[in-house]
Amino acid sequence: MYEIIRGCFDRHGDKRYGEFVTQRQHALQCATLASQEGASAPLIAAALLHDIGHMVESTLGSRDPADDLMHEASGARFLGQWFPREVTEPVRLHVIAKRFLCGNEVSYYDTLSPASRHSLELQGGPMSADAQRQFLTTPFAREAIALRRWDDLAKDTDLELALSLEDFKELLESLMRPEVA
Ligand code: FE
Repeated sequence: MYEIIRGCFDRHGDKRYGEFVTQRQHALQCATLASQEGASAPLIAAALLHDIGHMVESTLGSRDPADDLMHEASGARFLGQWFPREVTEPVRLHVIAKRFLCGNEVSYYDTLSPASRHSLELQGGPMSADAQRQFLTTPFAREAIALRRWDDLAKDTDLELALSLEDFKELLESLMRPEVA
Protein backbone atom coordinates (compact mmCIF):
# COMPACT_ATOMS: atom_id res chain seq x y z
CA MET A 1 0.00 0.00 0.00
CA TYR A 2 2.57 2.58 1.09
CA GLU A 3 4.78 1.94 -1.95
CA ILE A 4 1.84 2.47 -4.29
CA ILE A 5 0.82 5.69 -2.59
CA ARG A 6 4.41 6.91 -2.57
CA GLY A 7 4.57 6.12 -6.27
CA CYS A 8 1.60 8.44 -6.88
CA PHE A 9 3.36 11.22 -4.97
CA ASP A 10 6.65 10.54 -6.77
CA ARG A 11 4.96 10.80 -10.16
CA HIS A 12 2.52 13.63 -9.52
CA GLY A 13 3.47 15.31 -6.23
CA ASP A 14 5.39 18.10 -7.91
CA LYS A 15 2.45 19.17 -10.04
CA ARG A 16 0.82 22.37 -9.01
CA TYR A 17 -2.14 22.51 -6.70
CA GLY A 18 -3.84 25.79 -7.51
CA GLU A 19 -1.62 28.78 -7.97
CA PHE A 20 1.06 28.48 -5.34
CA VAL A 21 1.75 25.08 -3.87
CA THR A 22 2.40 21.59 -5.24
CA GLN A 23 0.19 18.56 -4.67
CA ARG A 24 2.74 17.25 -2.19
CA GLN A 25 2.92 20.50 -0.21
CA HIS A 26 -0.85 20.72 -0.18
CA ALA A 27 -1.29 17.14 1.09
CA LEU A 28 1.37 17.47 3.78
CA GLN A 29 0.10 20.84 4.97
CA CYS A 30 -3.43 19.50 5.16
CA ALA A 31 -2.34 16.48 7.24
CA THR A 32 -0.20 18.70 9.46
CA LEU A 33 -3.14 21.01 10.16
CA ALA A 34 -5.31 17.99 11.01
CA SER A 35 -2.74 16.60 13.37
CA GLN A 36 -2.16 20.00 15.02
CA GLU A 37 -5.86 20.15 15.76
CA GLY A 38 -5.77 16.74 17.39
CA ALA A 39 -7.74 14.93 14.68
CA SER A 40 -8.05 11.14 14.86
CA ALA A 41 -5.53 8.99 12.96
CA PRO A 42 -8.04 8.08 10.22
CA LEU A 43 -8.90 11.74 9.70
CA ILE A 44 -5.22 12.70 9.48
CA ALA A 45 -4.81 10.01 6.82
CA ALA A 46 -7.88 11.34 5.01
CA ALA A 47 -6.42 14.85 5.11
CA LEU A 48 -3.12 13.59 3.69
CA LEU A 49 -4.75 11.61 0.90
CA HIS A 50 -7.91 13.59 0.15
CA ASP A 51 -6.72 14.64 -3.33
CA ILE A 52 -5.08 11.36 -4.30
CA GLY A 53 -7.84 10.99 -6.89
CA HIS A 54 -6.04 13.66 -8.94
CA MET A 55 -2.84 11.63 -8.82
CA VAL A 56 -4.59 8.36 -9.58
CA GLU A 57 -6.45 9.77 -12.55
CA SER A 58 -3.33 11.30 -13.96
CA THR A 59 -1.60 7.96 -13.39
CA LEU A 60 -4.20 6.49 -15.67
CA GLY A 61 -3.33 9.12 -18.25
CA SER A 62 -6.70 10.80 -18.30
CA ARG A 63 -7.74 14.41 -18.08
CA ASP A 64 -6.33 17.67 -16.75
CA PRO A 65 -6.22 17.57 -12.92
CA ALA A 66 -7.42 21.17 -12.84
CA ASP A 67 -10.80 20.11 -14.20
CA ASP A 68 -13.62 18.87 -12.09
CA LEU A 69 -13.02 15.14 -12.29
CA MET A 70 -14.99 13.69 -9.43
CA HIS A 71 -11.59 13.14 -7.92
CA GLU A 72 -13.21 12.62 -4.52
CA ALA A 73 -15.01 9.51 -5.77
CA SER A 74 -12.02 8.01 -7.56
CA GLY A 75 -9.79 8.84 -4.59
CA ALA A 76 -12.15 7.19 -2.10
CA ARG A 77 -12.43 4.14 -4.35
CA PHE A 78 -8.67 3.88 -4.66
CA LEU A 79 -8.13 4.22 -0.90
CA GLY A 80 -10.91 1.71 -0.25
CA GLN A 81 -8.57 -1.04 -1.43
CA TRP A 82 -6.81 -0.79 1.93
CA PHE A 83 -8.53 1.60 4.29
CA PRO A 84 -11.79 1.60 6.28
CA ARG A 85 -14.62 4.08 5.86
CA GLU A 86 -13.18 6.34 8.59
CA VAL A 87 -10.54 7.24 5.99
CA THR A 88 -12.44 6.93 2.72
CA GLU A 89 -15.71 8.67 3.62
CA PRO A 90 -14.27 12.06 4.59
CA VAL A 91 -12.34 11.92 1.30
CA ARG A 92 -15.45 11.07 -0.68
CA LEU A 93 -17.45 13.85 1.00
CA HIS A 94 -14.90 16.67 1.03
CA VAL A 95 -16.20 18.26 -2.16
CA ILE A 96 -19.83 18.11 -1.03
CA ALA A 97 -18.66 19.61 2.27
CA LYS A 98 -17.70 22.75 0.36
CA ARG A 99 -21.30 23.07 -0.85
CA PHE A 100 -22.42 22.66 2.77
CA LEU A 101 -20.08 25.36 4.05
CA CYS A 102 -21.03 27.77 1.26
CA GLY A 103 -24.68 27.38 2.11
CA ASN A 104 -24.06 27.54 5.84
CA GLU A 105 -21.64 30.47 6.09
CA VAL A 106 -21.75 33.53 3.87
CA SER A 107 -18.30 34.48 5.17
CA TYR A 108 -16.98 31.14 3.92
CA TYR A 109 -18.35 31.72 0.44
CA ASP A 110 -16.68 35.13 0.38
CA THR A 111 -13.26 33.52 0.89
CA LEU A 112 -13.50 31.37 -2.25
CA SER A 113 -11.29 32.20 -5.22
CA PRO A 114 -12.96 32.77 -8.61
CA ALA A 115 -11.79 29.28 -9.70
CA SER A 116 -13.29 27.75 -6.59
CA ARG A 117 -16.60 29.58 -7.14
CA HIS A 118 -16.67 28.28 -10.66
CA SER A 119 -16.14 24.67 -9.58
CA LEU A 120 -18.78 25.16 -6.87
CA GLU A 121 -21.32 25.98 -9.55
CA LEU A 122 -20.32 22.85 -11.49
CA GLN A 123 -20.82 20.84 -8.32
CA GLY A 124 -24.33 22.16 -7.77
CA GLY A 125 -23.84 25.47 -5.93
CA PRO A 126 -24.35 26.22 -2.20
CA MET A 127 -26.61 23.81 -0.29
CA SER A 128 -30.09 24.86 0.75
CA ALA A 129 -30.95 24.76 4.47
CA ASP A 130 -32.83 21.50 3.93
CA ALA A 131 -29.95 19.91 2.08
CA GLN A 132 -27.59 21.02 4.87
CA ARG A 133 -29.73 19.33 7.52
CA GLN A 134 -29.81 16.20 5.47
CA PHE A 135 -26.07 16.28 4.85
CA LEU A 136 -25.35 16.43 8.58
CA THR A 137 -27.13 13.10 9.04
CA THR A 138 -24.66 11.46 6.62
CA PRO A 139 -22.02 9.39 8.43
CA PHE A 140 -18.67 11.22 8.49
CA ALA A 141 -20.21 14.52 7.33
CA ARG A 142 -18.63 16.41 10.24
CA GLU A 143 -15.24 14.86 9.55
CA ALA A 144 -15.57 15.88 5.90
CA ILE A 145 -16.39 19.46 6.92
CA ALA A 146 -13.33 19.59 9.19
CA LEU A 147 -11.22 18.18 6.35
CA ARG A 148 -12.57 20.81 3.98
CA ARG A 149 -11.45 23.63 6.26
CA TRP A 150 -7.89 22.25 6.43
CA ASP A 151 -8.01 21.73 2.67
CA ASP A 152 -8.78 25.43 2.20
CA LEU A 153 -5.95 26.49 4.49
CA ALA A 154 -3.34 24.13 3.07
CA LYS A 155 -2.16 26.50 0.36
CA ASP A 156 0.45 28.43 2.24
CA THR A 157 3.55 29.19 0.22
CA ASP A 158 5.51 30.40 3.23
CA LEU A 159 4.90 27.39 5.41
CA GLU A 160 8.07 25.35 5.75
CA LEU A 161 7.23 21.69 5.70
CA ALA A 162 8.54 19.90 8.74
CA LEU A 163 7.10 16.56 7.68
CA SER A 164 7.48 14.33 4.64
CA LEU A 165 5.24 11.57 3.31
CA GLU A 166 7.53 9.07 5.00
CA ASP A 167 6.56 10.50 8.38
CA PHE A 168 3.02 9.24 7.82
CA LYS A 169 4.01 5.73 6.75
CA GLU A 170 3.44 4.15 10.13
CA LEU A 171 0.14 5.91 10.64
CA LEU A 172 -1.08 4.71 7.24
CA GLU A 173 0.02 1.15 7.90
CA SER A 174 -1.71 1.12 11.27
CA LEU A 175 -5.01 2.01 9.58
CA MET A 176 -5.10 -0.76 7.01
CA ARG A 177 -8.07 -3.08 7.24
CA PRO A 178 -6.97 -6.33 8.91
CA GLU A 179 -7.87 -8.49 5.92
CA VAL A 180 -5.62 -6.54 3.55
CA ALA A 181 -2.81 -5.60 5.96
FE1 FE B 1 -7.44 19.70 -1.55
